Amino acid sequence: MTSLDPRAPLVLDTRELGRRPGSQREVTLTAPAPADLGIEVLSVTEGSPVDIDLRLEAVMEGVLVTGTATAVVEGECARCLEPIREDIEVTFQELFEYDDTRHRERGDSEEDDETSRLEDDLLDLEPLLREAVVLALPFQPLCQPDCPGLCPDCGARLADDPDHAHEGAIDPRWSALAELNPEDQN
Ligand SMILES: [Zn+2]
Ligand SMILES: [Zn+2]
Repeated sequence: MTSLDPRAPLVLDTRELGRRPGSQREVTLTAPAPADLGIEVLSVTEGSPVDIDLRLEAVMEGVLVTGTATAVVEGECARCLEPIREDIEVTFQELFEYDDTRHRERGDSEEDDETSRLEDDLLDLEPLLREAVVLALPFQPLCQPDCPGLCPDCGARLADDPDHAHEGAIDPRWSALAELNPEDQN
């Protein structure tokens, strides 16, 4: 009946809580990162370790999950394309409702996609982790907050060379004059 694989690294079994409100369990696990954990420009490398600390707490409606996850994200600076590699820590909290309460209280026709649900007392952490990681990442990752980017003339990384300038370069207007000058002298 369930679509969740109890052996999947991010699927947790809550049966031990016995559906007794107030019962709690602390869980610490390290799971390999699922694919596409992050955003296009910055993400956790698939298969790299994600360290997760969780508290599972049975409440009346289901199981409340509170957790922290740490991982390494990799990507590149939006301005200078320098590789970025940094630790992130995200926190999350979500109530997973018991799957059988839906039928009793709302009827089958009123599916509520916003609600996370247990499936046969299993819960899937992956959507929760994914949302928390995406929210924690900057849309425009930078190698340093004031990254000056690349030189528009030659593409050099300006952070490596703050005084970068093209002194030999001649403004196109002047170079036109420079070509005329020799003729004037003749
Ligand atoms: Zn940069
Ligand atoms: Zn340049």
